[in-house]
Amino acid sequence: MLPGLADTSAGRQTCLHDYRVLRTLGEGSFSKVKLALHIPTGTEVAVKIISKKEQSAFTAKNLLCEVHSLKTLRHPHIVGLLEVISTEDTLFLVTEFVSGGDMHDHLMKHGPLTEEEARDRFRQLVSALQYCHRRGVVHRDLKPENVLLDPAGSAKLADFGLCSLESGRLLSTYCGTVYYAAPEVQRLEPYDGPPADVWSLGVLLHVTLTGSLPFQGEDFGAVQRSVLSGAYSPPLLLSPECAQLLRGMLTLDPGKRKTLQEVMGDPWVNWGRPKLRPHRPLPCDTRDSWVTETMITMGFQWSDIQESLRKRRYNHAMAVFLILKAQKPQGDGHASTGRSLPCAEASSCSSLPPWVAQLRASARPRRRGGSEPVLPTWLREAGCQRPEKQEPGLKAAEPAGALPRLQSGTATPSTTPLQVPSLVPSTPSASTSGGAREGSCRGDSQQAGQPSGGAPASPSGRSQGRGGATRRLLKVLRGLCCCLPSKIWHRKLNRVRPR
Ligand code: ADP
Ligand code: MG
Repeated sequence: MLPGLADTSAGRQTCLHDYRVLRTLGEGSFSKVKLALHIPTGTEVAVKIISKKEQSAFTAKNLLCEVHSLKTLRHPHIVGLLEVISTEDTLFLVTEFVSGGDMHDHLMKHGPLTEEEARDRFRQLVSALQYCHRRGVVHRDLKPENVLLDPAGSAKLADFGLCSLESGRLLSTYCGTVYYAAPEVQRLEPYDGPPADVWSLGVLLHVTLTGSLPFQGEDFGAVQRSVLSGAYSPPLLLSPECAQLLRGMLTLDPGKRKTLQEVMGDPWVNWGRPKLRPHRPLPCDTRDSWVTETMITMGFQWSDIQESLRKRRYNHAMAVFLILKAQKPQGDGHASTGRSLPCAEASSCSSLPPWVAQLRASARPRRRGGSEPVLPTWLREAGCQRPEKQEPGLKAAEPAGALPRLQSGTATPSTTPLQVPSLVPSTPSASTSGGAREGSCRGDSQQAGQPSGGAPASPSGRSQGRGGATRRLLKVLRGLCCCLPSKIWHRKLNRVRPR
């Protein structure tokens, strides 16, 4: 077992019986992520399965950082940790399931977002990232693959697998993805974490708005040269205020780059919205009597529940508490958050809300003593020799010229720079569906101070009425021009753009 994980559900393999795998959600460089059913509450959760055997010294350390940061971070736009289960070979991170998929797949399917659509998601990510930095966590792997979307289109930051907990001092590990990594990181020099995250967030914003990467090249070296050249010019398609923000975030010199504080006060970010302010977390109420009583009917001991919460053990008792708290019916019988409610095998008991009925029906006392049960097959396989059978359409092969799905990597100054998969020269990925997505992804705004907007005017004061219609038309045109090489595509768009 990795040191530092002793406080989790280590060794208590019985915990694993509380989950049943449903399908594969994703596969990154370092893990596999499965959708699973938390049987006692009938709730869908995501389980990130990380093999401890394949860890280098760096990744083993980072595994601890990922667990630690997820344990410390509680933010509406950061994926919430429920339970950590550690066995000899494998670490299981059980988190809330974010059912809208990741931003990469969203862009591939629906095309780039309009500025209006992107603004709310961007504000949510800025708020989440600013909260991380305040808590001393630098993400270091911001990219669309690591941004999850809930059904309402709200963004949740995920994958802290490359994060650093030392935001106060200079860092030296080259990690992330070459297209998104800041120039100072690529130079393999000591770098300050927060400005490097701001750069990656700028690249992410560019990709979200255009469906293509701002720094491209035929191979790794060419991409790096493009990043290090400092030559960034935002597409003319974007509003001047948005272009200004992107330029500020993609400034070569980290000392002159916009800080996250400045991004929070930026006119484009706050256009038609209340000024973005730092997130103030509410204290976690550990004495919720409704949840505690429900758990006692399920066989938990009051003292176990309290101790798990007080010591923030992220064991099974804490997972059940967090799940039930998120699903606690309000006065009107609705769940308290937008999280997915129990789905499968719902009870037919009619007088109770279905999820409570199911919960009661499936409640069983915690096993005490007795022989150690055998691990379910999927967990025994969690060294993950072979992926779960791929569901049709889950992760379709990327069409040629699509925004490539990128794997992260690491290197230290003493090693060769990270390897990237062969680069696909990017063409406007979104082109597959062009403007077909209009009206989708309209946001809720879970984040305080982020009302879902109507159709506001642009930050420049120009009405988005005609401009917006023109932009929508351009999106359709973009869809029709998908076969053109990206440069031509951009030139054509630039030429037709109304100024
Ligand atoms: P890695 O560190 O291996 O990149 P990630 O945590 O980024 O792993 O997960 C890989 C993919 O799995 C993500 O890009 C996303 O598509 C999917 N995924 C991860 N966590 C969740 C979640 N909580 N809900 C839904 N999908 C998820
Ligand atoms: Mg990832």
